[in-house]
Amino acid sequence: MQQLDQQFIDNRWTPSRGERCLPVMDPYREVVIAEVSAGHPDDVDDAVAAAQRALPAWRALSGAERADYLERFADALARRRDELVRLSSSNNGKVLAEAGIDLDDAIACYRYYAGQARELDQRQGRLVELEMAGVEARCYHDPVGVVGLITPWNFPLVTSAWKLAPALAAGCTAVLKPSEVTPLPERALAEIALEIGLPTGVLNLLFGDGVGIGAPLAAHPGIDKVSFTGSNRVGEAVMHAAAERTADVSLELGGKSPILVMEDADPEQAADWVMAGIYFNAGQICSATSRLLVHEAIAEPLYAALASRIDALTLGDPQTEGTDMGPLTSARQRENVLAYLAVAEREGLRAVRDASHRQLPAKGYFVAPTLLRDVPTTSRLWQEEIFGPVLCARSVASEAEAIELANASDFGLAATVVCADRQRAVRIGRQLQAGSVWLNGEQLVLPETGWGGFKRSGIGRELGPWGLSAYLAVKHLVGPI
Ligand code: NAD
Repeated sequence: MQQLDQQFIDNRWTPSRGERCLPVMDPYREVVIAEVSAGHPDDVDDAVAAAQRALPAWRALSGAERADYLERFADALARRRDELVRLSSSNNGKVLAEAGIDLDDAIACYRYYAGQARELDQRQGRLVELEMAGVEARCYHDPVGVVGLITPWNFPLVTSAWKLAPALAAGCTAVLKPSEVTPLPERALAEIALEIGLPTGVLNLLFGDGVGIGAPLAAHPGIDKVSFTGSNRVGEAVMHAAAERTADVSLELGGKSPILVMEDADPEQAADWVMAGIYFNAGQICSATSRLLVHEAIAEPLYAALASRIDALTLGDPQTEGTDMGPLTSARQRENVLAYLAVAEREGLRAVRDASHRQLPAKGYFVAPTLLRDVPTTSRLWQEEIFGPVLCARSVASEAEAIELANASDFGLAATVVCADRQRAVRIGRQLQAGSVWLNGEQLVLPETGWGGFKRSGIGRELGPWGLSAYLAVKHLVGPI
């Protein structure tokens, strides 16, 4: 078992000032694979001070110079592909193919923001068109400063790439706090920083939980902006902490996203997209399309197609080729999901497929892929994020009803529309309150398109040029010519 009780500050591994340690699990084997520090607020002071010292030189580099480091980051991740895919698989319980997709997404993100950093040079000092004569105004984009980046456990390398790549591209220096549940994949980022010669203090990595690191980081007066991905409960606490000093926040929070299947859709094709939207990563996806709204005309064939696909899923060792679904990432998350399934039982919800339809592997934090039909809109299972392989479905009589129910949610992160007529899909998509709407396809997340939610799904956007803007402050130099 690895003892990883050190923090990465000023390009050095230094012992945490805290004494507590936390076990890191392999959720399939149910064994402790490492121990990491729980962190201490003094670690946060040290890391923020390091990032502050590094800021003047890092922000003074051109975007093109920072882009070179981001390209090197991407190259280093690509070189370590096999090792990192296995590490994510063992720490997260992700099947190898999914861990590979994550890593490729992260690499694409570092490369995309290398391009954005170069473009930023072209945008600096642009003349602003003015009505007033005899005055010149030029627009600059400055880094917001030292940023605190807090990530969850479901897609560690991806969620950190979406923050770190644009932050570094913008000229910010960073203190990154991975989830205490899955610290191992992101630990590699510190090793890569050393390997590629990233200047001292530009990236500091702190291991720990919410008490040791998360809350002190969000509240630290030296942190100019906090970018947080995780639960609504913690996101709200982060926002409160930032509000105390009027600091900027970006929040990527939960979801309860709908998938709408219209009567002209092919049920077999639709079933593939429904499956991909809920059982990928064992359903632990913020954008999981976990509410299925199917037109009553094709509800029965769709449920039948889903049942046969669920039966065909192989659950088991995520590190074995051919496994379709691994365990949930932690015992705690399995408990959370099982608590919802207990509510489903109490409410008498009708299962097309659940644990009674299959034998689960003897070891590992597994939850059976579950499909519940005719779920009332008043049920907690319909309204709340479950964050596991549980699909709640109900049929609708019309397009208008599908849209109304899709939007009747506190969340608005994503949605999928499945119908034969593309024009109709666009029309429906335009009426949905969601940051990403997929038309006749799987969850396609691209570095060039924005990511983020309406309503309680968060504040701000990651990815695309908006992801870079989140780390830039607009400044104008104005005066008579
Ligand atoms: P979480 O909120 O429990 O933890 C997220 C991070 O916050 C962890 O690093 C944790 O240690 C830290 N933290 C805990 N307490 C803190 C505090 N008081 N102050 C500051 N930081 C603190 O979330 P989780 O269980 O790790 O992740 C699952 C949640 O993340 C789900 O709700 C999911 O929808 C959401 N998520 C959203 C997106 C998105 O892009 N919108 C992406 C992935 C996950």
